[in-house]
Amino acid sequence: MNTFIETGLQEEILQAIQDLGYEKPTPIQAKTISHLLQTEKDLMALAQTGTGKTAAFGLPTLQKVNPQNKATQVLILAPTRELALQITADMQKFAKYIKGINVVPVYGGASIENQIKDLKKGAQIVVATPGRAKDLLNRGRLKVDQINTLILDEADEMLTMGFKDELDAILAQTPVDKQTLLFSATMSKEVERISKNYMHQPDKMSVAAENKGADTVEHIYHMVSAKHRYEVLKRIADMHPDIYGIVFCRTRRETKDVAAKLMNDGYNADALHGDMSQSQRDDVMKRFRNKQLQLLVATDVAARGLDVNNLTHVINYNLPDQTEYYTHRSGRTGRAGNKGTSIAIIHTREKNKLRDIERISKIKFAHKLVPNGAEICSNQLMSLTDKVVNTKVDNKQIEPFLEEIYHKFEHLSKEEVIKHFVSTEFNRFIEYYKNAKDINADESREKKSVKERRNNQDFTRLFLNVGKKENLTPLRLIGIINNALDSNNVEIGKIEILKNFSFFEIDSKAANQLAQKIRDIQFEGRDLSVEPANASNGGRENARKGKRKRSKSFEGSKGRKRSSRR
Ligand code: AMP
Repeated sequence: MNTFIETGLQEEILQAIQDLGYEKPTPIQAKTISHLLQTEKDLMALAQTGTGKTAAFGLPTLQKVNPQNKATQVLILAPTRELALQITADMQKFAKYIKGINVVPVYGGASIENQIKDLKKGAQIVVATPGRAKDLLNRGRLKVDQINTLILDEADEMLTMGFKDELDAILAQTPVDKQTLLFSATMSKEVERISKNYMHQPDKMSVAAENKGADTVEHIYHMVSAKHRYEVLKRIADMHPDIYGIVFCRTRRETKDVAAKLMNDGYNADALHGDMSQSQRDDVMKRFRNKQLQLLVATDVAARGLDVNNLTHVINYNLPDQTEYYTHRSGRTGRAGNKGTSIAIIHTREKNKLRDIERISKIKFAHKLVPNGAEICSNQLMSLTDKVVNTKVDNKQIEPFLEEIYHKFEHLSKEEVIKHFVSTEFNRFIEYYKNAKDINADESREKKSVKERRNNQDFTRLFLNVGKKENLTPLRLIGIINNALDSNNVEIGKIEILKNFSFFEIDSKAANQLAQKIRDIQFEGRDLSVEPANASNGGRENARKGKRKRSKSFEGSKGRKRSSRR
């Protein structure tokens, strides 16, 4: 379907689309619009942000709304306030030539009273976050008994954000014969569960293969030792003076740390995370949209719903815990036909994770070396030169000063003047990078260093009370450790997973902290505990003895009540 006219959309809607400058349907719109205009069947669509999915579900849904009936006929659920507002704004634009249609957003973190007032006026289309929708339903303020279309946008995201109970509660109250449209960037088990429980033999569609974003994104990775992560980030920013991108971190703490470091080092950067108030978040997002900020350091959740189309880079400061998240992240660049680069900064032990992402996201990463000082300086120099050459000169304004300026340059030749000008800006880069080391990780060197460290007894061998029986794998064990320590940077040595328990080596400096923190974690329903393995018998004996008596305690753990190991 090459034109919107062919889709069967009504005149008022076609006019609104034209005003928006949409010339032809995106692949997902070409698939869904005419289909949804003709069927009441449920639909499950695999589509990422940036594919035009809002119009894909919004336009045909709008056409089915009866403007004369003030009752709520369409409920759209979205994971964040930002996304809910964005969908509302889009729907209002699509409906601008249809009289009597009211689109109302309701979301948490804002006055519920005002939202109740808005709903009272009559809203045929309600766009809601799940928590607020459930609250309003419970208060009897949101009525869903006349709903004929329910849309779940970014369903995977709603579920990973923990809205499962809310979704269950809302879905259970909506009429059975409604049409449900589910949009998701990934098809997780939980999404499958929702579709099984609440949808009736849905049609399935996927635009992943045709997704323009994916084609225009180059996926690369830099492999460094964990301690050089920040240095790599700086080099990426320095290598691309016009960078405009999001730096994704795993935790709020990491987000704050990285943003603070960047700001301290003079970059136009700021953080976006869940600990900020809504007005702080709005302010940061506004500055980022206006390009006052070049780098936005964000958690996955906080960055959702941020609608920016022309990012040059997405940087994975740490890989996401959930493999599927990579798709969300990288899909934020390479939009609207622009080219984009998604960079993963990894250490040697994360290569498996990278392979998982390649498999699930059907992409290929290219290994690129971290730019060295000479490359960065050369890029900076060229960018500066371009800037000087392309600067608009206001002859009239500058004229009165020229004589004195020429006089100051009298003793310099043209070539020397150029050198001086460029050096005023450039010297700080030369200074910073003159002794810059090669920080690319050499895998063989990395392995050797782990070995050396083991020999130097920097590692502590620990016993963990779960094993193969609980489906523990080395990757899951690393995940548990990273989770407990809230860091991906702790050195882990040899891992041995046995039937009922496991052993692993860890940087001695982190062993105590891990023992404390791991007690808060459950794995496959078991409380976790670690303790030092008995070095003289390779740990195995310790494990057997450990059932009766603990061989040795960590400092600070004595006298504390701990859950039993078995
Ligand atoms: P979405 O995936 O719905 O967030 O849309 C991504 C961006 O693409 C938004 O800025 C839309 O306004 C824009 N867009 C959606 N459909 C079209 C279209 N057919 N032509 C041009 N731009 C579009």
